[in-house]
Amino acid sequence: MNIAKVIVDVPASSINQTFDYKIPERFQEILNVGMRVIVPFGPRKIMGFVVGRTDESSFDKLKEISDILDITPVLTDELLGLGKWLADETLSMYITVFQAMLPQVLKAQYRKELVRMTEDSLPEDLENFFAGRDFVVYEEFEAAKISFYQLQKAIQDGDISVNYQVKSKITKKHITVVEPRIEPHSLEEEILDLPKIAKKQKELLAYFIDHPEPIDQKILVQKCNTSKSTIKALVDKGLLVTFKQEVYRNPYDDNAYARTVALELTEQQQEAIAPIKQHIREETHDTFLLHGVTGSGKTEVYLQAIQDVIDNGKEAIVLVPEISLTPQMVRRFKGRFGSNVAVMHSGLSSGEKYDEWRRIHRKEVQVVVGARSAIFAPFEKIGIIIIDEEHENSYKQEDQPRYHARDVAIYRGRNHNCPVILGSATPTLESYARAQKGVYQLATLTKRTNNSEMPDVEIVDMRDELHAGNRSMFSRKLKESIEACISRGEQAVLLLNRRGYSTFVMCRDCGHVKECPHCDIALTYHKNSNRLKCHYCSYEEPMPKICPECNSDLIRFFGTGTQRIEENLTQLIPEARVIRMDVDTTRRKGSHEKLLTQFANKEADILLGTQMIAKGLDFENVTLVGVLTADSMLHLPDFRSSEKTFQLLTQVSGRAGRHELPGEVIVQTYTPDHYSIQLASNYDYTTFFQNEMRTRKAFQYPPYVFLSLITVSHPNHVSAVQATQKIVQLLMKNVGEDTVVLGPTPSPIARMKDRYRYQCMVKYKNEPNLRTLIRKIIRQFDEEVRKNDLLITVDMQPYQLM
Ligand code: ADP
Ligand code: ZN
Ligand code: ZN
Repeated sequence: MNIAKVIVDVPASSINQTFDYKIPERFQEILNVGMRVIVPFGPRKIMGFVVGRTDESSFDKLKEISDILDITPVLTDELLGLGKWLADETLSMYITVFQAMLPQVLKAQYRKELVRMTEDSLPEDLENFFAGRDFVVYEEFEAAKISFYQLQKAIQDGDISVNYQVKSKITKKHITVVEPRIEPHSLEEEILDLPKIAKKQKELLAYFIDHPEPIDQKILVQKCNTSKSTIKALVDKGLLVTFKQEVYRNPYDDNAYARTVALELTEQQQEAIAPIKQHIREETHDTFLLHGVTGSGKTEVYLQAIQDVIDNGKEAIVLVPEISLTPQMVRRFKGRFGSNVAVMHSGLSSGEKYDEWRRIHRKEVQVVVGARSAIFAPFEKIGIIIIDEEHENSYKQEDQPRYHARDVAIYRGRNHNCPVILGSATPTLESYARAQKGVYQLATLTKRTNNSEMPDVEIVDMRDELHAGNRSMFSRKLKESIEACISRGEQAVLLLNRRGYSTFVMCRDCGHVKECPHCDIALTYHKNSNRLKCHYCSYEEPMPKICPECNSDLIRFFGTGTQRIEENLTQLIPEARVIRMDVDTTRRKGSHEKLLTQFANKEADILLGTQMIAKGLDFENVTLVGVLTADSMLHLPDFRSSEKTFQLLTQVSGRAGRHELPGEVIVQTYTPDHYSIQLASNYDYTTFFQNEMRTRKAFQYPPYVFLSLITVSHPNHVSAVQATQKIVQLLMKNVGEDTVVLGPTPSPIARMKDRYRYQCMVKYKNEPNLRTLIRKIIRQFDEEVRKNDLLITVDMQPYQLM
């Protein structure tokens, strides 16, 4: 088996296959499937994944593997198989999928180097540039202002070669550890031998008599109130030794979590958990949909099921949406399972993420709680997979590979013969429909664990406010309730539906709206910098003083961003202390948590924010929830807009009155009669489901059909349309007669970053060869993609139709 099959790090559809490499003698014993290697590829050296070993190759002249990057495989056999399936399923490149499964630091980076190949003298400029060195990084050449022609000639003559060096980004953290070099009893003699003035050194040795075990130098310095130079003096005398030790960066202090024990389950919880426990015991796969109102104790069900899995010697994966992976959520898992839990989310530094991943890889933990990509945790004995808030869009990756974590979970659940739990107060229509058909098992929790009622929801018709002369964003009712809430010493949460809410700039005289010159979208006004920014590309410009169209000076910003709402609010209720939470105030690492802690410590009366405040928060003092405009999402060009509105309203209502104090919810809207607003205010999921299913059936949308979205973009308008047109025609010719192919249609954002965007949508019920067909069609555009800047993306399960 001296030939390795390697997937190389070249994300191009023409390279999307394994390449054979000879395994040199010295690697024969140590090279395993699932390891990363460095291989020659064309003129370069690049990274690759070994996916198999074999004896025979259909090629005769094989190149050799240059180096091995891992000591143990980073991908298990199961993950390799999963990767292959996922790449086929989502029409992605194998290399892209493998990289998505691993922490970012394991992705290779390449450094371009110039290597001197000759002893003879080089032209003067180059000779000075190399200055006696054998190789120089390429960036240095770019900065050196030597003519590129000279370099090119030297390369052609073979005097200099260009080398691509695979640069590993892995950084392991090390600490310096100190320990005595001699037995504790000899230390006493040494202390006596030291000169009188070496008081600090004597103290330090005395410390080691009682504590001979190795200690982190930093801690030692603090503890003994000593210095590094004192330590070094004793090292030089041969009395102490220091050495480097690798440590994990643990972003969480596991001792800081008070341990919790299993609660006695309510009757409903017991009914829900019984079949799950049975599957854990019998090691059989099934998917459960746990439909439970907010506060019904779903998390406690997860915790107790996981306990069974741990007792069984197996492992658990828990997925939580990124934004609800709050300190509160982490505390619940760390509180129950302590240091047996790894946490993975985007707030961690890449080093921290890598360390958490290694704790999983080395089987030092049995539980991982993480955002979407934690579904690829390299566990080998999975006993349960849980997806909390399964309706969240963030489980779908909107970038290559465009996968849905739910599909991966079920695939792995089958591999490991273990149950998969999907939990939500507002399941997706897809999941609930499957539960109704018996594809999933349905478990329902209808009551809150403390038996408190869901808070009353009052709908306020904002059109009436306008008629009554109130032009503010706050209805009279909401203002009154906020004031009352604050005067009772309680807290309020106000939700602004961000989408559809940017502050754009318009001329009052001629109506001109400032748009991004590169995208078909209005620029957003940012008050702090007094600049206009595009949210799709990074374009920005200063706020104009006069209208560029008509020279009027009546150019103003409109719309309602969180900043403006905050200003309005403080004008309206001056005594209110407000914390604003949006993309702007939470950009810095840790700021999200800091704001939540401030709110929990009652340093503010009102938490004002976008969608990110709707999820998972649990503050006992919150008794009022206000939704400023419930309908801002309803009119988006998206067949899921009613479903998303229903989900958001239900989730946010669940934030009020979760504990002793009764809660109140006020929903402001311009369309009070819309069924998703009406039914959310009654917490009537079932009727909503039935209504929405009728709509989906009438317009033929999921779950009645499957969708595939192909988006084509090109800097030239005509090229974009023509390519899309061709794709549409090829599809139409080859699909079944029940399948609908729509397009070419301009994308809802028809131009982005100077590229015109067109799309083609396929609606189908049964089209087993669709993936192969699309792959074949796209291959026909390979040349245009490579040479002519055409871009084609395929999404086999689109959630963002933009
Ligand atoms: P959900 O995840 O459905 O929103 P949680 O699991 O957060 O619900 O439960 C809501 C509250 O009820 C939490 O404070 C939790 O500690 C408590 N709780 C859960 N199960 C029980 C139980 N069996 N007995 C008492 N309290 C419970
Ligand atoms: Zn104007
Ligand atoms: Zn732009």
